[in-house]
Amino acid sequence: MAAILLDVDGVFHVSGEPIAGGAEAVRRLRNDGHRLRFVTNNTTRTRADLAEDLRRMGLELDDDEVQTTPRAAARALSGKRVLALTMHAIVGELEGVELVGEDAAAVLIGGADETPETNLVFSFMNLARAFHELEAGAELYCLHKNRWWQTKNGPLLDAGAFVTGLEYAADTEAIVLGKPSTAYFEAALEALDADASMTWVVGDDIETDIAGAQAHGMKTVLLRTGKFRPDAVERGSVRPDGIVSSISQLPDWLEANLR
Ligand SMILES: [Mg+2]
Repeated sequence: MAAILLDVDGVFHVSGEPIAGGAEAVRRLRNDGHRLRFVTNNTTRTRADLAEDLRRMGLELDDDEVQTTPRAAARALSGKRVLALTMHAIVGELEGVELVGEDAAAVLIGGADETPETNLVFSFMNLARAFHELEAGAELYCLHKNRWWQTKNGPLLDAGAFVTGLEYAADTEAIVLGKPSTAYFEAALEALDADASMTWVVGDDIETDIAGAQAHGMKTVLLRTGKFRPDAVERGSVRPDGIVSSISQLPDWLEANLR
């Protein structure tokens, strides 16, 4: 029996459209005795909303099995004055963080989503404000640094571009709070009381999920759904332990390869 960290976006759905077989796969993995945790870099929905989205797709899970980046941010930034460029929906998750418009100790950059709110959050005015705070000594944090993600209309620019832009402009380096940071993976292992060497990470992102997990000593399965691109596997140096068509093939693959 293994501990399995399951990515969500591109694994169970793309833009909210379910990927076939996800609910059945989760049932089977649980019946096979595996311990599961849903590890997402989603930065635009609360944990309760994300869990509810998955339940609507037929998955059986509790809210507290979902691990989100805003909660990681709340742990890291509790008690600090923070200028947050994040979607309004996750502000409630930033418990204990003092959100301010100026004189910040930290600047926090969240992720983009598919709504027009992204235009407001990452406006020139807000990015220039963030730059000003960084120049005045604030530390730069981000929920993740993803370049893009897969939507039903194709790849969409993610907030990694803004994080990198601010790093460049302010000559600083952002602290990443979500996958593939050590703090994020350690929190997931702790929740499952699991050793990295006995843990599998399953996802569609060869950088964040697969390379990130390997760097932390975990085993990996890459799925050919969501943002999967064959060339990234063929041309790159990252070699997952397994590659399967979709989440629905995962239980069989694990059964054959876990011994
Ligand atoms: Mg994904």
